[in-house]
Formats: sequence, structure tokens, C-alpha cells
Amino acid sequence: MTSAGRFAPSPSGELHVGNLRTAILAWLFARSTGRRFLMRVEDLDRARAGAEAGQLRDLAAIGVDWDGGVVRQTDREHLYAAAIDRLTAAGLTYECFCARREIQEAPSAPHAPQGAYPGTCRNLGEAERASKRAVRPAAVRLRAAVAEATVRDVLHGSFTGVVDDFVLRRNDGVTAYNLAVVVDDAAQGVDQVVRGDDLLPSTPRQAYLASLLNIPVPEYAHVPLVLNADGARLAKRDGAVTLADLAAVGVAVDEVRDALLESLGLPAGSLRQALAVFDPAGLPREPWVWPGMGGPDA
Ligand code: GLU
Repeated sequence: MTSAGRFAPSPSGELHVGNLRTAILAWLFARSTGRRFLMRVEDLDRARAGAEAGQLRDLAAIGVDWDGGVVRQTDREHLYAAAIDRLTAAGLTYECFCARREIQEAPSAPHAPQGAYPGTCRNLGEAERASKRAVRPAAVRLRAAVAEATVRDVLHGSFTGVVDDFVLRRNDGVTAYNLAVVVDDAAQGVDQVVRGDDLLPSTPRQAYLASLLNIPVPEYAHVPLVLNADGARLAKRDGAVTLADLAAVGVAVDEVRDALLESLGLPAGSLRQALAVFDPAGLPREPWVWPGMGGPDA
């Protein structure tokens, strides 16, 4: 299988300029290294009717193209189940009956990092599990043998973060993002993962899981986010931030694309032109504050 990069949007609403900028970067990283570029819709959770079609239309409109068909996670449950079965057969999972509130209120284990699962259900006996199962369906957690892991990132260098007994399958039966992303990237031949740097803290968990599944760890590049004027991550409520909003205040798609390229220190005009001079070493390392475009929100 030839190597590939990808963009993996969650179809929970329209893409905003921050998501589009990340997509442009993922495309540039893949295309500039001769990789295929894949489009994967992460629709296991929070999918909104119609959102996928709008996202794909907007990506195409700014010049992001992809190879092959669109892959949807809801079509791939068999792959996730097979991976969880393999881990379970190796003794690397356990059932967890904790409600979110119980986890928040549980005293954290000694030396456990902030936010790590305290291990409440790690050593339940079969009788205890059976009685808990009668009350509440179980989630499936990874039985992690490490507390942290280190990954290499093209933009961040070496990054060490928490690995805990994270959830692989939620108790409503939905596969967890951390499992699905690792399985999909491997199955699709993705060996370069470019995404927003809000996901960097999850990456050591994913790399550790990949190692347990004998999957090669991809190259990672976690790119800076786009922020609003208050320094918070850009969101839909921040005025005209989607292509549709911007069109409504008189800003054409090409102008948005050019503003995004210029924010990356790249020439405007087309993604192809930007590709000709793209060099990850020259990328800004700081978040970009969305200056607003067009209309009264600008
Ligand atoms: N679906 C995730 C998101 O939209 C991205 C996951 C990834 O790129 O690994 O935030």
C-alpha cells in the first residue's frame, strides 16, 4: 500500500476557517511528500444530517482534492471490533462500569497524572462484574502497562503525554475515537497524520495503542489552531467563519483561500502554487488570530 496522509473531519456541523486551514495543511504535507491524500468522515459520534455533504463541498471549493472515495467510520465497525477482540484475547482490556461522575469524584491513584482514569474497575472479580453488568452496560478500557509515552512530531519535536486505561468502546456501544483513529489510519495506509494541535495530548495514547496492535506509528504534525479575538479556539459563534457565512457577507471562496494561504506565509492564488514552495520548516508555530473578513462581523 502506498503511503498516505488524510483529513478526517467529524460531520457535526459546517467547517470553519480553522478547520479549512488544517485541511489545507494536511493536503500540503501529503502532496509535498508524494503521498496519497485520503478523506475519512469520522461519523461515529455527533454526526448531523447533511453536514458531511456540506463539508466535502467546502473542502473541494477551497481546492482540497483527495484520492479514492470517501471512507466513513460507521461502515468500519467490523475493523474496530476485530482490534478490540485482539486486545481482549491478549488480556489487554477490561470492562468498566463507572459513570462519568464517579470517575470525577474518585480519589486519583497515587502518582496518577491529572485526568487519568483512576483504575476503579481494573481489578474487579468475575462475580462483581456480573452483578454490575446487570445494572449498567460496560465500557471497554485498555489495560495500559505504561503511564506515559513519547511521540515525535514534525512541529513539536518530542512530546511526552499521559497514557491511562482509556476507553476503547463506550458503554453505549460506540467505538471510541482513540481506537478508531488508530485502526483506520493503519488499515488505510496512512503514515502521516496532520491535524490541529488540540489533539496532541491524545497522541501518546494512540501511539501506545498502535504499538500494542503491532501497527507502525505514523509521522505526526500537529498544526497551530486558529483563534478568535479573545484568544479562544475559533468557533461557529465567532461571526462569519464558514464559507457560507462569508459568502453571505460578500467574501468569495477564493478570497478566503488566499487569506488562509497568506496566514501560513504561502503565496495566494491556488493550493498548487502554494505546494510548489511549501516547506514545513517555514510554517508559523503560533496560533493565527482570525482577523475577520467582510461585513459587520469583520
Ligand atoms: N475527527 C477529528 C476532528 O474532527 C480529527 C481526528 C484526527 O485528525 O485524528 O477533530
